[in-house]
Amino acid sequence: TIPLVAWRNPSGKFVSIESNQGSLNFSDGETHGSTTIPKPEQLFLFVPHPDFSTKSVIVGHNEKFLEFNPSDSNKSSSFGFELKTPERLPFILFDYDQNIYPRGANFLASRLQQPSIIKAAVPPPGKGTRVRVWKSDPSVKTIGIRELFLIHTDIKSGPVDPLFETVSTAKPIAPDANGDFLLDFDNTPSQAPNESDNHTRFDVVHTFSTVRYTYDLLLGDLVYLDGNPPQLTRPWGNKRLQIFPHAGEDANAYYSREEGALKFFFTKRKDGTPIFLCRSLDVVAHEAGHSFLDILQPQWRSDGQTGGFHEAFGDLCSLFVLISMADIADLFVTLTKANLRDPNNFLSAVGEEFGDALFNNKGKGLRNLSNDLKGSKAQPEVHALSLVFSGFYYDVLVDVFALERNPVIKGDTDTLLDVATILRRALIIAIRVSSESSTKTKYQELATNLETAFETLSRRLGVNLSSWTEIVRKHAKARELSIAGLS
Ligand SMILES: [Zn+2]
Repeated sequence: TIPLVAWRNPSGKFVSIESNQGSLNFSDGETHGSTTIPKPEQLFLFVPHPDFSTKSVIVGHNEKFLEFNPSDSNKSSSFGFELKTPERLPFILFDYDQNIYPRGANFLASRLQQPSIIKAAVPPPGKGTRVRVWKSDPSVKTIGIRELFLIHTDIKSGPVDPLFETVSTAKPIAPDANGDFLLDFDNTPSQAPNESDNHTRFDVVHTFSTVRYTYDLLLGDLVYLDGNPPQLTRPWGNKRLQIFPHAGEDANAYYSREEGALKFFFTKRKDGTPIFLCRSLDVVAHEAGHSFLDILQPQWRSDGQTGGFHEAFGDLCSLFVLISMADIADLFVTLTKANLRDPNNFLSAVGEEFGDALFNNKGKGLRNLSNDLKGSKAQPEVHALSLVFSGFYYDVLVDVFALERNPVIKGDTDTLLDVATILRRALIIAIRVSSESSTKTKYQELATNLETAFETLSRRLGVNLSSWTEIVRKHAKARELSIAGLS
């Protein structure tokens, strides 16, 4: 299918192209009753690429194709290509009002004029930083504390690096002679609020490293998609995001744009023993995910489906982080015999230790991505509502993994790592091409844009992902994404 799209400016006028030289014009659309739709000359055949700055965007218009070429000094060039039957192009995106405006015209124009920036330097082998982290949380004994390799060589005593700094009662922690932060976590009881210095120091490194790893993964996707290091516009300002592993007592953790901070609190179980939310990789990745999504789509902090997606993206970040680590993916495949629906799996469970403290549910998690919540049954509260989208995305992961599995010739761990990477990048594309505003039907918009993303990635990878598209459609419908939380 070929998406037809239109761009509308804030005063509601649609963009069209005046001539083959590519000058832009804004004018009214066609009004039918209370709705306004674009006129044929305001519709474009959109050939999406996440980076408009280095790749041409080709649009169809009045039986012509027009190619924007940002490296051309005129910012555009054109070539005639007869589009014989434009009226037969499927108007697939018309069902969802916002999908016909994937980006504002100003955004497109600004990207077209953005100069290319240089390629990221490849870190030399044998360099970088080793750290120790909880790869799930202290309650998941099969995982425990493991080492993690960060490619960065610029993590300084603190830890602090160009993007993040930690704020803690612990004195700044210096790397060892190899540039590593390999702390031990003494097997002594935790004590809140005055946690032992040993535990505090471990928490600082763990929390920083988990945030850093989450960002590395997602920033890496942007570099993969754009070919350039991303220029981040951080909504909290041009300063480091502050990480507070021990922000105080509360059954909570949060990202705050206003404070420019990720804050993790401790709470107490019924027996009075403390539980530190910073020790959950899931919780830390979730909050890091909120901050990253706020960079990509700063108007999405909201209620309804858009706010629900913010929560779903946080939970999916913990999935992405876990499933990107070869040791964890392999452990998962081994423990579950490659069954993503295993009822006790640690992958779909988010926040096991905290969930157990709240619900005494034996590792099922604060939330579980392997769920069957349909849109018509969802509560409007954003965390509850998030389960519809995260569950949908997990459905897609399950079916795509089943489709691509071929363990006789390729190990399940490798397949899981590969499938998860492509699905993660597809979601990043879908987020970037979705409308900037908070909308009531963000879930279906994102699902539709996942299909577009598969087309982009299939060209990139040279593989046919049309079966993946069918899987997305099937589950978007079955989950009732379009009506989630609207009743
Ligand atoms: Zn959240």
